[in-house]
Amino acid sequence: MSQYDAIILGAGAAGLFCAATAGQRGKCVLLLDHADQPGKKILISGGGRCNFTNLHTAPDRYISSNPHFAKSALSRYTAADFLALVESHGIAWHEKTLGQLFCDGSAKQIVAMLLDECAKGSVDLQCGEAISAVEHADGLYRVSYGDRTVQAPSLVIATGGPSIPKMGATGFAYDLARQFGLKVVQPRPALVPLTLTGEDALFRDLSGVSTEVVARCGKAAFREAALFTHRGLSGPAILQVSSYWQRGDTVTTQFLPDREEGWLKAAKRERPKTSLRKVLSEALPDRLAEALCERLGLSGDLGNLSDKALAAAEAKLARWSFVPSGSEGFAKAEVTAGGIDTAGLSSKTMEARKVPGLYAIGEAVDVTGWLGGYNFQWAWASARAAGLAI
Ligand SMILES: Cc1cc2nc3c(=O)[nH]c(=O)nc-3n(C[C@H](O)[C@H](O)[C@H](O)COP(=O)(O)OP(=O)(O)OC[C@H]3O[C@@H](n4cnc5c(N)ncnc54)[C@H](O)[C@@H]3O)c2cc1C
Repeated sequence: MSQYDAIILGAGAAGLFCAATAGQRGKCVLLLDHADQPGKKILISGGGRCNFTNLHTAPDRYISSNPHFAKSALSRYTAADFLALVESHGIAWHEKTLGQLFCDGSAKQIVAMLLDECAKGSVDLQCGEAISAVEHADGLYRVSYGDRTVQAPSLVIATGGPSIPKMGATGFAYDLARQFGLKVVQPRPALVPLTLTGEDALFRDLSGVSTEVVARCGKAAFREAALFTHRGLSGPAILQVSSYWQRGDTVTTQFLPDREEGWLKAAKRERPKTSLRKVLSEALPDRLAEALCERLGLSGDLGNLSDKALAAAEAKLARWSFVPSGSEGFAKAEVTAGGIDTAGLSSKTMEARKVPGLYAIGEAVDVTGWLGGYNFQWAWASARAAGLAI
């Protein structure tokens, strides 16, 4: 039976970086993945350019049952640290918007960089074989895959969450965590399009129309684009609030977020012979302006509409309410919220408090970032914390 210092399950963002970190410290590391190649989600991330970190990374941009948990790891491995690594590999990058850093070229460069870092640490990477059993006895973890069984005093769960199952994503991390007595916070799709039915279904006719809004759900608010789809709502603003959305919650969108109170009454005074539809279509996509006017039930020239009706229209445009019927689920979710309960893990090392030698990192853990490079930064930071502790 082959013996290693650590066995890392899952060669995604977190597993690769953890393996490289531990390997470069002289640890003998085996990195296992059931997929035919490592880093598949990295390859499709950021539209193929991998939004690998965010300059504004801060703990308040993560959702977790324990909002303090991510602080330690994030502060010890920062966006600047990962950027320095990217630059040391000569990978050209740019800031797209809101602190989001992307490769100029391809996400393949990030995978190649991580594999290079693993090679520097002599990591043994094996892909394409299902893990059939994991056992723990006499201080050693035994992992069976294919026709082999290997053992190590440290085992790292880095198999991510179940979002996008067709990419090889599974809930394996949760089964394993439960096997070792760790709790799992109910996993749910996050950064996911929301679906509309009933009266709201009329908006699905606007499929393909996009506009900047402030989308809100509970206390969360995001100013970005919203996109109407044939099933409901998507676009960055909606994906962001979806991570906070629970069934039954209302999502509001503020159309024309820069308009000051009273702008419609002012427009009436200045241009009484102009229709509301015309005024709205000067600032919004035409099909959206038409649909909003129809639902507001206001037609004709502004001059013929009462100030009260215009004030009510303004208020409605500023807090347009949708009650999504659901989300497009794990099949379309960019990440999984929930996961291995942080209460059972050390925030410094990611080691299970009651199971020595067992670690959990990356998306498998109940820490979920905003859209925009935050999830990879958590993968790097948590992987680094565990990789230094193994
Ligand atoms: C379409 C898409 C685009 C994204 N774009 C971005 C982006 O631009 N920026 C950003 O920050 N985040 C992005 N994300 C989120 C990001 O990809 C994840 O948060 C990140 O990959 C999590 O890293 P991880 O290593 O924890 O999990 P993963 O990268 O999912 O890796 C888990 C690994 O475990 C393996 N595995 C799973 N089950 C088993 C099993 N039973 N046995 C063995 N191996 C197993 C998988 O094959 C996989 O290789 C995107 C996600 C998607 C789906």
